[in-house]
Amino acid sequence: MMDIKKFAVLIERQRGTILSKIKRLRREDPFSTEDRALIVEPGTDAAQLFGHEKTVVLENQLKRDLKEIEKALEKIKKGTYGICENCKERIDAKRLDAKPAAIYCLKCEKEIENGKKSKK
Ligand SMILES: [Zn+2]
Repeated sequence: MMDIKKFAVLIERQRGTILSKIKRLRREDPFSTEDRALIVEPGTDAAQLFGHEKTVVLENQLKRDLKEIEKALEKIKKGTYGICENCKERIDAKRLDAKPAAIYCLKCEKEIENGKKSKK
């Protein structure tokens, strides 16, 4: 029997970490203020701009992780935790140990990743 509570605690903790990372990113980004769109003026510091782009990429990555984490928490509530969202097979226990918020089995995750890449 899987120790779901242990995973729930781990995932909640990860969620907290990611949320604080996103907050910190927003604080550090010189262009992040919500009411100010990114306006590139002549003479805008290139390094600052690059910093902003890096922040956006990082933030998007964190948001993706956060989505997955929230889905994993939902699955815990629904009682479907540990079952792949795609093929409905059990996710390998070792994989869950390494990545508690995993909602797909390794095979499906790879397929989804590849699918995303080929669409672009
Ligand atoms: Zn699967």
